[in-house]
Amino acid sequence: MATDGKDPIPPHKTFDTILVLDFGSQYSHLITRRLRELNVYCEMLPCTQKLSELEWSPKGVILSGGPYSVYAPDAPHVDPAVFELDVPILGICYGLQEIAWHHGKNVLAGEKREYGHAYLKVERHGDGSTGGHVDALFKDLEDDMEVWMSHGDKLSHLPEDFITIATTSNAPFAGMAHKQRKLYGIQFHPEVTHTPKGKVLLKNFAVDICQAKTDWTMGKFVDQEIARIRALVGEKGQVIGAVSGGVDSTVAAKLMKEAIGDRFHAVLVDNGVLRLNEAKIVKETLTAGLGINLTVVDASERFLGRLKGITDDPEKKRKVIGNTFIEVFQEEAKRIASEAANTSNAGDIEWLLQGTLYPDVIESISFKGPSATIKTHHNVGGLPATMSLKLIEPLRELFKDEVRELGTKLGIPEDLVWRHPFPGPGIAIRILGEVTPEQVRIAREADHIFIEEIKAAGLYRNISQAFAALLPVKAVGVMGDKRVHDQVIALRAVETTDFMTADWYPFDGAFLKKVSRRIVNEVNGVCRVVYDVTSKPPGTIEME
Ligand code: GLN
Repeated sequence: MATDGKDPIPPHKTFDTILVLDFGSQYSHLITRRLRELNVYCEMLPCTQKLSELEWSPKGVILSGGPYSVYAPDAPHVDPAVFELDVPILGICYGLQEIAWHHGKNVLAGEKREYGHAYLKVERHGDGSTGGHVDALFKDLEDDMEVWMSHGDKLSHLPEDFITIATTSNAPFAGMAHKQRKLYGIQFHPEVTHTPKGKVLLKNFAVDICQAKTDWTMGKFVDQEIARIRALVGEKGQVIGAVSGGVDSTVAAKLMKEAIGDRFHAVLVDNGVLRLNEAKIVKETLTAGLGINLTVVDASERFLGRLKGITDDPEKKRKVIGNTFIEVFQEEAKRIASEAANTSNAGDIEWLLQGTLYPDVIESISFKGPSATIKTHHNVGGLPATMSLKLIEPLRELFKDEVRELGTKLGIPEDLVWRHPFPGPGIAIRILGEVTPEQVRIAREADHIFIEEIKAAGLYRNISQAFAALLPVKAVGVMGDKRVHDQVIALRAVETTDFMTADWYPFDGAFLKKVSRRIVNEVNGVCRVVYDVTSKPPGTIEME
């Protein structure tokens, strides 16, 4: 939870935990994702984790896939002590090969790579001599299964004491189990949606075979997290944190409020490039609605003053906004700290709240290869170390949809919980060219109309992110019989699951017609509206 200081109540002490050891597969995080969906808590660590340094006991271990070949001289291997643990183990792809390698070095390069869909035949053995556990992985599954493969290596033969539990036409050992121990390997990837019944298999492993409790629920998480925050911060400790009106910072702030009340100080910096009426709306929601101790700092003039004259370099805009933000936030932190010092029953502000999510944590701990050093987790808010505050990150165990579920549980309004992401530099990077108060007005008004219409049409949740951008060009138009020479608004709306790739949203013509008509009629200074039909890649979601 905090990058320094010891976590007093880590979740693996409260919840039965499956340990995922990561060999660097692009799918590793999906294994954790699927287990969490099954309400089973799990943690991922790099495959190089020494078991003697692990301070807790997992209920089971999953070895992930990975890009290496187990027989290569520099291939990563797990601490052999894993195989001495008295808990079930499941190897997926590289993980299966790693189990086989450990038990007899019988893995080699296959003649044929196997990538994509494959049909799996399950082999059942009855419960006779093997005690039934070998069939347990495929419980409640059909004998024929569609699975997703992604490998080039294969087992030359089964290791001693193992038995085949599944085959494909290309992989005679697509699934294997140890005859006595709860040790399993599968060549396919149950964690991807291309293996439609993969989740049943993961449930069989985690819930039936490992006997992990399915108690990872947001209700239980709230109680545990509040206790954890209180234990960390103590009776008098104070915490400060920036809020943006987005779901992550609001949920984190509300959790802090529940845990330590007004000893949490939220700060909203109005940088002059927020959306229409945003500072006002966030203030109402967070203070009147959620009871959070919030200060709004209106620094719009300072921001806009510094943005003046930046016409051609989007990176410069981002830097100016980032640096000014840090400056304003630090000033405010100082002011709040000196005020707090005058309150007899409160201590110093020692903590900084950050809305770090689990994908950031995964990114920082996942296995990057034998020579790569493990990157330390980046400071999401970008606040400087000179503030010498300890970090508190109450959402660092959660995926985005868990944050939403938690938000709903904490009584945060639906509208906010489902809000599209909004960049830190705000609409400054949606105004191509120079950011002036007049350009801000135009971009804001057009954006407001677009989002209002998307909501009215019931499309807001189908779309992952939508906004209006203002192009730095003028076009000719005719309005009221008069020739005009005004600006162009570009609408952008995308669908995506992970924001790494995205496709533009296929609105129908009538919808676009309505939005275009409203923007041209209602927003002074605009005479044309275009729709951006670029996917990502090659485009990015934002325009700058
Ligand atoms: N590199 C190994 C192979 O090609 C494992 C691949 C994987 O884990 N997806 O067989």
